[in-house]
Amino acid sequence: MLSRRLLAVRGWRRAYSSQGKPSECPHPSSCPMDQPQEQNQVQVACSKCFLLAQVPSSLNHFHLFSLYETFDVEQKVLSSKFKALQNVLHPDRFAGKSEDQAILADSWSSAVNDAYQNLSKPLTRALYLLECKGQPVQEGDAQVMDNEFLMHIMEVNEELDEVDSPEELAKLAKTNLDVLQDYFERISHAFQTDKVEQARELVKEMTYFCGLETFTQKWSQVLEKQGVEIRRDSKISDLRSNKKGEELQVIMENDEVFECDHLFLTIPAFVSSRLFDKLDPNLSNILNNIPFVDVGVVNLEFEGRVTDIEAFGFLVPSNQPVRILGTTFDTCAFPQGNKTIFTVMMGGKWFQELFGENPSPDSLGEIALSELRHIMNIQEQPNRVMVKIHRKCIAQYIVGHKQQVQLARERVRSHGYPLSLVGSSYDGAGVNDVIMSGKQQVLAVFEMSYVVAGGGLGGLAVAHYLAKLPTTRKILILEASSRMGGWVQTSTMNDGVYFEHGPRTVRPVGPAGHNTLNLIQELGLDQDVLPISRPHPIITKRLIYADGTLCELPSNLTSALRTLPPFKRPIATCLWNDIRAPAKICEDDTLFEFVSRRLGADIAQNLIDPMTRGICAGDARQISAAAFVAGPLFRMEQESGGIVKHLLKNSFFQEKSVLEESEESDLVQRAKSEKWGVWSLKGGLETFTQKWSQVLEKQGVEIRRDSKISDLRSNKKGEELQVIMENDEVFECDHLFLTIPAFVSSRLFDKLDPNLSNILNNIPFVDVGVVNLEFEGRVTDIEAFGFLVPSNQPVRILGTTFDTCAFPQGNKTIFTVMMGGKWFQELFGENPSPDSLGEIALSELRHIMNIQEQPNRVMVKIHRKCIAQYIVGHKQQVQLARERVRSHGYPLSLVGSSYDGAGVNDVIMSGKQQVLAVFE
Ligand SMILES: Cc1cc2nc3c(=O)[nH]c(=O)nc-3n(C[C@H](O)[C@H](O)[C@H](O)COP(=O)(O)OP(=O)(O)OC[C@H]3O[C@@H](n4cnc5c(N)ncnc54)[C@H](O)[C@@H]3O)c2cc1C
Repeated sequence: MLSRRLLAVRGWRRAYSSQGKPSECPHPSSCPMDQPQEQNQVQVACSKCFLLAQVPSSLNHFHLFSLYETFDVEQKVLSSKFKALQNVLHPDRFAGKSEDQAILADSWSSAVNDAYQNLSKPLTRALYLLECKGQPVQEGDAQVMDNEFLMHIMEVNEELDEVDSPEELAKLAKTNLDVLQDYFERISHAFQTDKVEQARELVKEMTYFCGLETFTQKWSQVLEKQGVEIRRDSKISDLRSNKKGEELQVIMENDEVFECDHLFLTIPAFVSSRLFDKLDPNLSNILNNIPFVDVGVVNLEFEGRVTDIEAFGFLVPSNQPVRILGTTFDTCAFPQGNKTIFTVMMGGKWFQELFGENPSPDSLGEIALSELRHIMNIQEQPNRVMVKIHRKCIAQYIVGHKQQVQLARERVRSHGYPLSLVGSSYDGAGVNDVIMSGKQQVLAVFEMSYVVAGGGLGGLAVAHYLAKLPTTRKILILEASSRMGGWVQTSTMNDGVYFEHGPRTVRPVGPAGHNTLNLIQELGLDQDVLPISRPHPIITKRLIYADGTLCELPSNLTSALRTLPPFKRPIATCLWNDIRAPAKICEDDTLFEFVSRRLGADIAQNLIDPMTRGICAGDARQISAAAFVAGPLFRMEQESGGIVKHLLKNSFFQEKSVLEESEESDLVQRAKSEKWGVWSLKGGLETFTQKWSQVLEKQGVEIRRDSKISDLRSNKKGEELQVIMENDEVFECDHLFLTIPAFVSSRLFDKLDPNLSNILNNIPFVDVGVVNLEFEGRVTDIEAFGFLVPSNQPVRILGTTFDTCAFPQGNKTIFTVMMGGKWFQELFGENPSPDSLGEIALSELRHIMNIQEQPNRVMVKIHRKCIAQYIVGHKQQVQLARERVRSHGYPLSLVGSSYDGAGVNDVIMSGKQQVLAVFE
């Protein structure tokens, strides 16, 4: 039903002509349009039949909305009148009416729209009002501005052009807004006091600044372009919530309701307090405990210099019988031609006490001027006096403020309200403080605490990359042993000699290799790097022990074309084999099968078999072709039918991966230019993990050694995990990174998720004996990386590295013998003594290398379940495990050598990628 109240609006009469009467109106005698109309009314439709009148040719915009002709239009009032009128004129209401009426509704609607647009912006409103008052600003008027003013405008424009960050834009926007606000006040005053000519001058000046409204417009545009929806004239009047407080509904003044995942309340605390009135009276009270004060700001402009005092201004202690807070000498800091401008601050905490509830701006202006005359002995009359009364404009951080804010935020947190309290009510009143408050509260929503299970390379990498995230609140590494680094283990003797019991060299190539070098530089270890460059023998000379002889692997084209033992044909002929051999299309295959098929059984037996033993102590007949080192070659067969075919079809120079294109530290560049083949660190690789742990601790990462995780518990949905320690301590976190071996993780899921536990347990591990042998002086002439032993040889070791060939240690010769792996139990039984392994290693070495000397030292370590075996189907297992974690919503990630590659670089990269994956 149309509202009668809306049908007659002020102002129509003036514009009404006989043609305004609805032609189809059946009430010619009683039609209100035939009756004398109230002055300043606009009759949109007949109040009896609701037929629309014609739109008058000159329609007064103020009167259309039943407003007096005034500059002081309340936006809220204007909007509600606009909405009501548009509602009346909605096309749906004219569906059954004549075509003429539908056309009229359309014309009225656009007239109402134009009028609303015109009146809602202060500049267009002021221009229109001047027009109504018979003193319009004409085109060209605006150019009659003084030079100083125009210079100022140019400067501001230049500043605007140079803005390139949202922060700078916000600052400029704020300044401009202040200037405009100032004009609004002055123009309003001029109109109120009927000084139309003065208003006209001010409007002309404001035209320039409104051009600069671009500040706020640009800021809003930037946000809107980014997809931020901005609704102006949208006042929040209430908040509702479900019982648990986890979901909030934002109720608007017009009863519209918004739902969201999170609400940021950047409005003043006393307004937020009202919103919580019903929902949480306790929180409402806390917020209401933050008081606000009214401030009167009086700008006084004098002609010429009216004081000799040069200063920032003065402040007045509260015990003085003076009714102002202080005064700034604005033109002392920033001269404005020949003017002297002061700004007097008044009221604040003492506003009501001094000036009552509702002082007029004029009375404040007079008090300010009289106090200033008295204090500074100024006799001159000001040119201009501008007064603004800012109601509840400054939050008072009274004693206990911090506690109040903490209490409020704590209540929000403990009740699980998805909202944040932001702005000058809480975190500081300066522009910078407020922007920072917004930033910090946004980050706080995403802040998370993490537990990292395991302090090996994987655990350290996870903590390292997590620590870089601005949203990280806490990182706790739980390491079962008393030392960090996992399998990175170096023993240093009293005389400085050191032995590696785990990894000894790292490769510097590829994205993962570069990533580790970047890290080394970041940790400040670049001076400790020991690089080995080509053509050093440890890079070029790799030996295979077969048929009682140490055979050198071909390292260049000439040697690849010759038949060298243990191979039965030149190694280069394997390419011919690859071209002829049919492809086997499959998800995975054993490494041995794959290489036999593509490159021949000779290569599989004499090269791939010992290499696999050297890299993962595993059996190439079980290891996956897809998941292990030959993965790229396997993919070539699957995609192109063979390796050579693939290389011919595709460019040898593949596109660089995104990772490779990323940062390249100086160290990476050095490694490239010096052609590093491998690197280690002074004092051994444990230098790396020790330093890394120290740096992380300094960054605030908490590391708990001797802290073994024994169980995991979860809520029903699996969304929350509790980490249970051997000593029954319990840790909770937002996300858990399991960097411990898969078989240990499998145990932790025993009860919680037997299915996931099984998948993890399908990744087998092998034991390795590591025997370090130290001899006095040089006991061999062979210079090489070391040798590997194929599995078909009657020898009880996997291979040996010639450590001091790569990294000399005085006059010593140090070898490290690797034993067991896949064949550990078979060769040495369940529980061999370290001594027995040491003896076997020495005797095999004597035999193979013909060494007679007695070692100075023999160190034996038996590493139980130290290397994961990526057997056929490994990739699928890992995918299955991660898929299960994902689909069950467990807040955890599987990281490290059990999943994504066993090399040092692979493990660090695994940590990095799993951290990034959490935030994808
Ligand atoms: C003998 C040997 C030689 C190697 N040589 C090389 C080489 O030359 N070059 C190369 O690149 N790579 C080499 N590697 C591989 C590389 O060292 C490893 O892949 C890498 O160190 C593994 O790191 P990680 O963090 O995944 O696991 P780990 O090092 O196993 O770390 C896991 C950590 O978790 C802890 N943990 C286990 N259970 C729990 C629990 N319940 N609660 C809390 N903490 C727990 C462990 O104590 C350990 O510190 C070698 C590995 C070995 C074993």
